[in-house]
This record gives sequence, structure tokens and C-alpha cells, in this order.
Amino acid sequence: MNRDTGAKEIPIDNSLQHAETVRRNAEGGAIAAAITLDTDWAPDFVIDEIAARLARREVRATWFVTHPSPAIERLRRRPDLFELGIHPNFLSGSTQGASSLDVLRNCLETVPGATSMRTHALVQSTPLLDMVMKQSSIATDVSLFLPHMEGVRPIEYWWQGRMLLRVPYVWEDDFEMECPRPAWSVAAMLETPDVKIFDFHPIHVYLNSGDLNAYNTLKQRAPRLQGARPDQAADLIATGSGAGSAFDELLHALAAAGSRCISDFRVEYELGGRSR
Ligand SMILES: [Zn+2]
Repeated sequence: MNRDTGAKEIPIDNSLQHAETVRRNAEGGAIAAAITLDTDWAPDFVIDEIAARLARREVRATWFVTHPSPAIERLRRRPDLFELGIHPNFLSGSTQGASSLDVLRNCLETVPGATSMRTHALVQSTPLLDMVMKQSSIATDVSLFLPHMEGVRPIEYWWQGRMLLRVPYVWEDDFEMECPRPAWSVAAMLETPDVKIFDFHPIHVYLNSGDLNAYNTLKQRAPRLQGARPDQAADLIATGSGAGSAFDELLHALAAAGSRCISDFRVEYELGGRSR
């Protein structure tokens, strides 16, 4: 996993296979928006359901993975649609490892060769990013949250001869719940042509959460969320506006306008594309 290739060499790996698609999207004026999902130990039936919704619309997405599971393996079989990145939990008490380096290595065992990352709970620091840049294949980081910010673009983060591309994201389902007037109608945010990265949690999409009540009830029923069953969640799925309706609205928009994975932003950046 060590990347010790010098400053100019950039590991874009399998994202290169999408370079032509990305170039066509850019030339065709496709919007620079992307769906990302932090798996956050969601049960497999939830991951499968959200993946099926994306696949039905043929909308691409990046999954930031917290744990290995059969559902994650199924995502891996659709590289045409899904990119797998890592979602390291660097908080104390992490189940992913005793030290930050253990956590990083554990995540890279689950997603070998991952090139994209968002840290769980957005934990970050100069030493942490230094470790990620020196000890992993990660080339693009999406751990900067700028809620509803306009004019966002990828930025170069240089450190000791290495460059990490950082692409801020502007919307997250559980933060939206905390807003006095939540903006669940997210397609309106696509009207400006700058970079718009959305962050969903599969469990909140599944429950169509507008607040944390249903999620907290599910956690009481299934304290180990990964082991929850569909029947424990069935009566908790909300109607109306929420993370699920926002997700479906975005799917509709991106199915028509073109969709990206996070590694595409890196490819576009290297090609000098429109998101620069
Ligand atoms: Zn998380």
C-alpha cells in the first residue's frame, strides 16, 4: 500500500477507464455533481436496496466503506457504476484498529487500492493527512464539509512533495436534519455549474429520515446496526420529505444530466477539465 512514487506520479488506477466517459460528460455540459455514500456499518439489506435504486437509474456513485460484507462485495462487482473508497474511523475506540495506522491499513484491506476517502466524523489533522499521503493509495479526499457553499472547486493540498486533491462537499443528509429549514429538494442546488458533492448514509435513505427518531428506534431494536433485519425497519420508513426523497430526486436529475464518481474529479483535474 505504500505510495512512494514521487510528487508528479498520481495513482488514478481504475478511474482511467472512465476518462472517456468523463470527458464526454464535460464536453456535453453535464453537471459536476456526485452522489457519495458513507456506509457507516449499515446492514446488507439496506446497502443492497440503495445500490439497486442507483442501478435502476444507472447513476454512478462513490461508496465510502466502513466494513467488509457480502453487500460490499456485490458493489465491487459493478465497477461501471460504483467506486469504492474508504471511510476510516479515526475516533478513539474505533472498531477498525487500535492506532490510526491500523485503522488506515484495515480500511485498505477492505478496499485494496482505494483512491478516494472521507473520514468518519470528518476527523482530520495535518499528521493524519501526512500518514494517508505516505502510507496509502488515496489520491482524493472528500472530508471537507462546506454546507451549501457555492463556487466549490477541487483544491491541491501539497505536503512534503506529495499532492492530495481535496474536493469539498456541500450537502449531507444528517446535517440537513439539523438545519432550521432543511433543504430536501436538492435538485435546485444543481442549477449552478460548480462542483456539488452530496453525502448520504444508506440507512437514512432507506428510512427516508427527516430526523433521527426512526434511526434511534432502529438502534434500540438492533444495537449492532449491521445485524438489523428488514422487519425491524419496516414500520420506521417515513413518507414525505427526507433523505430518501432527496436521494430519489437527485437520482432523477443525475440520470438525465450525467453522473460521476469521486475518482472522476481527479481524472478531470488531471485532464484540465471543467471542474478545475
Ligand atoms: Zn461516517
